[in-house]
Amino acid sequence: MIFLMTNSIISFSFYFGDNMLKIDLHVHTLWSKCSGMDLHTIFKVAKKRGLNGLAITDHNTTKALRPAKKLAKKYNLLLIPGVEIDTTHGHIAGLFVENTIFGPNTNEVLATIHELGGLSVATHPYDSFRKSYGMKGPKTKVDAIEVFNSRCVFSHFNAKSQSYAIRHHKLITAGSDAHFWFEIGNAYVETEGDTIDDFRQALEKRQVRIYGKKTFELTQPLGFFARKFRKIIKYPGIN
Ligand SMILES: [Zn+2]
Ligand SMILES: [Zn+2]
Repeated sequence: MIFLMTNSIISFSFYFGDNMLKIDLHVHTLWSKCSGMDLHTIFKVAKKRGLNGLAITDHNTTKALRPAKKLAKKYNLLLIPGVEIDTTHGHIAGLFVENTIFGPNTNEVLATIHELGGLSVATHPYDSFRKSYGMKGPKTKVDAIEVFNSRCVFSHFNAKSQSYAIRHHKLITAGSDAHFWFEIGNAYVETEGDTIDDFRQALEKRQVRIYGKKTFELTQPLGFFARKFRKIIKYPGIN
C-alpha cells in the first residue's frame, strides 16, 4: 500500500523537477541493541530499493556514523546523521546531528539538538505500544513530527501524528524505523534536490511528499532475537 498525504500542509502545488531525493529518515543499525543490521546490508538494500539516502538514528548512540559515512560514499548514497534518544516524554530523534545526546530530560535533549544545529523530531509519538506518550509538555516544542512510521501497528497511531502536525504547523518526516533489512525504505520522504542541504531546505519549507507502508506486525518481537540470530536474519548474499 502506498500512502500519500494529500491533505493539509504538504498538499501545496509546488513543482517537483527531475532531480528527486527519496530518503528514509529512520533506520537502526547493529549499534542499536534491538537491531542486527550491519552497514553494508543497509546501504546495499537502500540502493536496491531506489532510495537516494537514509538517516541513521540508533538508540542513544551515534557510533555507527563514522563507518557509515565512508560506506555512504562508496554506495553513492546520502547519509543524514542522527540519533533517537530516550526521553521522559518518549522517543525524540535528532536529525543532522553527529554527537550522541543523552536523555532523559526532554528540555535538555531538545536544547542540545538545537545547539548542535539539528532538527528535533517526535518519532511515532502516538504509538502506545512503544515509548511514546503523545504530544505533551516540552515535547510540543519539537521541530518536526514523524507522521508515518512503518512500525506503527495501528494506522490511527500515524493518523494522530499527522493531524497533530497539521494543527500545530510542524515540519513532517517519515521513516521505516527499520531494524531488519526487509524494512528499509518502507517509508520515506521525497523532495526535489541533489544534496543533503537541498533535502534539509525542502524539509524546512515542508516541500515534501511522504510515502509509507506498514511493516508486518511480527517484526517488533523479532527484535528481541536480533542479536542471537543475526546470521539468520542477514540479507541474503551478504557475508
Ligand atoms: Zn522509537
Ligand atoms: Zn527507531
